[in-house]
Amino acid sequence: MRKSLIAAVLPLAVLCSHAVGGTVGGNVKLTLMGENPKLPKIAIVTTGGTIAQKKDESGAAVPAVSGVALIAAVPDLLKEANVEIYSLCNEDSSRIKPEVWFRLAKLVDKLVKRQDISGVVVTHGTDTMAEAAFFVDACTLTKKPIVFVGAMRDASEKSPDGPENILNAVAQAVSPSAKEWGVTVTLNQFVNSAYNVRKSNTNNVATFNSGEHGYLGYITTGKVFKYNRPMQDFCIGMPEKLEKHVEIFMSYAGCDGDAIRRATDAGMKGLVVEAVGSGNVNEDVYDAIKYAMSKDVIVVVTTCVPDGPVLPLYGGPGGGATLIKKGAILSRYLRARKARLLLILALSNKIPKDKIAKLFE
Ligand code: ASP
Repeated sequence: MRKSLIAAVLPLAVLCSHAVGGTVGGNVKLTLMGENPKLPKIAIVTTGGTIAQKKDESGAAVPAVSGVALIAAVPDLLKEANVEIYSLCNEDSSRIKPEVWFRLAKLVDKLVKRQDISGVVVTHGTDTMAEAAFFVDACTLTKKPIVFVGAMRDASEKSPDGPENILNAVAQAVSPSAKEWGVTVTLNQFVNSAYNVRKSNTNNVATFNSGEHGYLGYITTGKVFKYNRPMQDFCIGMPEKLEKHVEIFMSYAGCDGDAIRRATDAGMKGLVVEAVGSGNVNEDVYDAIKYAMSKDVIVVVTTCVPDGPVLPLYGGPGGGATLIKKGAILSRYLRARKARLLLILALSNKIPKDKIAKLFE
């Protein structure tokens, strides 16, 4: 579903054109690299993650490389593009809140609207990259490539994967073949849509995939090969502020649903229930869901199963068919974390319930 974008404004006054550094709104630092008039210009927004980390004396990886140092360490990318580097933050992505993705989305939206920018690369931690990319995708409307990239091996490892991943991301950001892919997560040469991508391995460089939906493409020797088009193409727009009280509740054998009742009494506005199978919960959880709905909480049902749609197949108290009859929304292919972000954005944009259901179809 496509809607027109309600653009939000970030004060993005570029203070210098040829200079190497400057400041844009919201404490975002801007640095310019490359001045080849024959090359396209891209923006790289840095946010942290393993790609910008090194091991400390104890052997644990911590933020250590500035956004500019990260990009300057890959000088070959200047053969492909001139670059504006925006250093948004330097955080492990397990610590990043939706408010940071909201700032990121506004910045990226502003950048892709500029005629002189061909594409945007975002460096980000892999732990929550799939969600970050999904969030930005849901807020922005563009045919220009927006490429999320990171690394599984930190910058102090013997063979870090960051530099090669950045080069591939830049190749994608300037490639005409990457148009209409929207926002992607591109690591280890594979291109995934923001909608379907998931992190699948805690430690391996081949961690991102899109399950049964497959990759969008592949990058090698600076060339982008197109396999697929994205399954979803929607933008629900940029809200003015974020509705935050949307919770995820996991259903499991024997759980009683009390957490749902407590969160409802505490003013929860939206609830994502991670059910089992094709979207079923037990009777106690079903009763708690009905209690939440009686207090106008919007309920989205998803599943813990990695692949397949959530479907209204089963009746009885708590079956998916019963849940939908009672007014719950089924998340289809979205799983809990992304379903929560979509619900946050829908509620923040004050979209009515029947239209929210359509966003999940
Ligand atoms: N913990 C790291 C992060 O998400 C993992 C990574 O980037 O690979 O920031």
